[in-house]
Amino acid sequence: MLTTSAFIAFIQAYTNRLDELQPLLDQLDNQIGDGDHGTNMTRGFHAANERLTSTPADDLGALSQAVAMTLLSSVGGASGPLYATVFLRFSAQWKGQSQVDAKDITEAIVQARDGLVARGKAQVGEKTLIDVWSPAAQTLQANPTESGILAAAKAAAEAAVGTRELVAGKGRAAYLGERSRGTCDPGSVSSAVFFEEFANAIV
Ligand code: ADP
Ligand code: MG
Ligand code: MG
Repeated sequence: MLTTSAFIAFIQAYTNRLDELQPLLDQLDNQIGDGDHGTNMTRGFHAANERLTSTPADDLGALSQAVAMTLLSSVGGASGPLYATVFLRFSAQWKGQSQVDAKDITEAIVQARDGLVARGKAQVGEKTLIDVWSPAAQTLQANPTESGILAAAKAAAEAAVGTRELVAGKGRAAYLGERSRGTCDPGSVSSAVFFEEFANAIV
């Protein structure tokens, strides 16, 4: 079950993890991009937390919408509109609900994955966060239960590590071609931690 208080706790816990990971995410992005992924994510999620303190906390749809709008306005990089898409899809799926079960969560994650593909036009294997969202959504679809959410987080973590061997086909890293191999995709790492903290937040 995901309740409104669990959702707020998730955003807070994810922000705390981003604070710890900011140097690593910036460093990964520095290797194959422009070095700002950690900075972008911490800025966006700190702003989202701030915004949630003044958002009516009885509707998962409204909470998700508030996070999406804040990420859109506070993150300039590619990751802003991408993570905003995730929360917009959550918002559409959970509109008016104060708690959702594993089936509603599965549907929202699948919708988020589809939204990311529609926005970024990346396919699996192009070394983007799709390489994490796709196996996570598939794992959850195959087992739309609370244990499936844990399994999805595990699949996400493995997939993020797996991006190290890939050559980028989308995003800034694509300019490096073959030289993008050997570094994990920063957006995939932030997405794996997203799934880890999301799974932790389920009550
Ligand atoms: P920017 O590249 O604008 O500096 P960030 O560094 O914050 O933005 O985010 C980079 C991450 O965004 C990448 O590691 C990758 O996972 C993701 N990304 C970039 N382009 C795409 C795309 N077209 N589709 C999916 N994900 C993408
Ligand atoms: Mg960047
Ligand atoms: Mg940038």
